[in-house]
Amino acid sequence: MNHVVVVGAGLAGVRSVEALRARGFGGTITLIGEETHRPYDRPPLSKSVLLGETDSTVVDSDLDALEVDFRAGVAAKGLREGVVETTEGELAYDGLVIATGARPIRLRGDGPQHVLRTIDDALELRALLVPGTKVAVIGAGWIGAEVATAARRADCEVTVVEAAGVPLSAALGPVGAHTVSWYARAGVDLRLGTAVASVDQGGLTLADGSAVEAGVVVTGVGVRPSVEWLAGSGLELENGVVTDEHLRTSLPGVVAVGDCAAWWSRRYGRRMRVEHWDTALGAPDVAVAALLGDDAVYDPVPYFWSEQFGHMVQYAGHHDGERLVLRGDPAADAKWAVCWVADDHRLTAVLAVNRPRDLVQGRRLIERGRRLDVERLADPAVALRDC
Ligand code: FAD
Repeated sequence: MNHVVVVGAGLAGVRSVEALRARGFGGTITLIGEETHRPYDRPPLSKSVLLGETDSTVVDSDLDALEVDFRAGVAAKGLREGVVETTEGELAYDGLVIATGARPIRLRGDGPQHVLRTIDDALELRALLVPGTKVAVIGAGWIGAEVATAARRADCEVTVVEAAGVPLSAALGPVGAHTVSWYARAGVDLRLGTAVASVDQGGLTLADGSAVEAGVVVTGVGVRPSVEWLAGSGLELENGVVTDEHLRTSLPGVVAVGDCAAWWSRRYGRRMRVEHWDTALGAPDVAVAALLGDDAVYDPVPYFWSEQFGHMVQYAGHHDGERLVLRGDPAADAKWAVCWVADDHRLTAVLAVNRPRDLVQGRRLIERGRRLDVERLADPAVALRDC
C-alpha cells in the first residue's frame, strides 16, 4: 500500500493519520477536510468556547511531523473504485479512510436558525449570547442542555422546547426526568411535550399554533451522518457507512470511523453508530490495522459525557429496557447514578452524575460482564466495584 487518503479532518480523521504512522506505514498520506481549519475537538464548542473561556480547540497533533499532505477546504464529492473525486480534482488511493462525521438536522421555516457543529458556529453563536437576549433552544438533548447552560450564564432569557416528555429522552429514556429540575433552577423555561412546527422570523411557531418569541434560535435535534458524497459509489450505506467489526466497509481497501460509521458490535450483536468523542478517538487504530491487513476488532463499551447546569454527566454502556437501580436520590443529592441491570444481574449501562468513580468502575464491570449484588448496588455508599 503506497497511498492512503483520509477523508474528513475531524478527530477521527487526524487519529487515523496518527495510527497509520504509529503502525509504521511509510507511504503517502493525504488528509482532506472541507472545513478550512486544522483538525479540532468539538466537545468544548458547547462548553468552554460558548462560555467564552477559550477560542481554539485545535487537536494537539503535529501534522508536519506526521508527514501528511493536509488539504484544508477540500471536500470529497464522489467515490469510485480507487479514486476519490474532490472539489480540487481526483485523488487515487490504495487505502481509504472515511471519517466525514455528521451534520446537524435543521428544521422547517424561513427564520434564522443556528446549529452547533463547527468552531465557526460556536463563535457566531457566542457573540449573540448577550444579557437579555431571548434565546429559544429546540431540543433538550445533550447539545440543547449545554447551549441552555451557556446562554443562562450569559444572562439570556432561555426557553427550551422539547417534543418528548423528558429531557435526554433519546439517550436515557425516562431517566432524563431527573434532569428537569436543573432547568428550573437555572431559570430556563423548559417546555416538554412541545413540538415545533417551524422556525420563523422572530422565533418559533409551535405545533399547536402558538409562538415562542426569540431573537436567537438554536436547533439541537440531532445529526445525520455525512455520507451523501458516497451515493452511487457501491458502498453499503444504512444510517451511515456500514462496516464489519474490523471497521472494513463493503469495498476493498476502504474503512470507516467516527460519527459516520455504522459498525458491527460483537458485544451487542447489532450495528451501532455512536456519535461520541471516545469513538472517534478509539476506532481509528482498529480501522487502520484492518487497512494494513490485521484483524483487530472494534468492540468498546460506548462512553459519553456532558457538562450541563453545573453537573458532570457521564454515561457508559448501552441499555434496552433493563431494570433501573438508583444510587442516591436525584431530588436531594447533587451526586447520584443510575444503573441498568439485566435479568441475569449484569450491568449493561451506567449514568453517573457528579460520581466519576461510578462511571469508571461501572464501565469496567460492563466490560467484564460480572454479575452484581443488586441490593448492594442500590446503596450509594458501596463502591460499584464491590457490588
Ligand atoms: P467530525 O468531528 O464531524 O469530523 C468530520 C469532518 O469531516 C468535519 O470537519 C467535516 O467538515 C468533514 N467532512 C464532512 N464531509 C466531508 C466531505 N465530503 N469531504 C471532506 N470533508 C468532509 N461527544 C462526547 O463524547 N462528549 C461531549 O461532551 C460532546 N460534546 C459535543 C459538543 C458538540 C458541540 C458537538 C458538535 C459534538 C460533541 N460530541 C461530544 C460529539 C463528538 O464531538 C463527535 O462524536 C466527534 O467530533 C466525531 O468525530 P468525527 O471525526 O467522526 O466527525
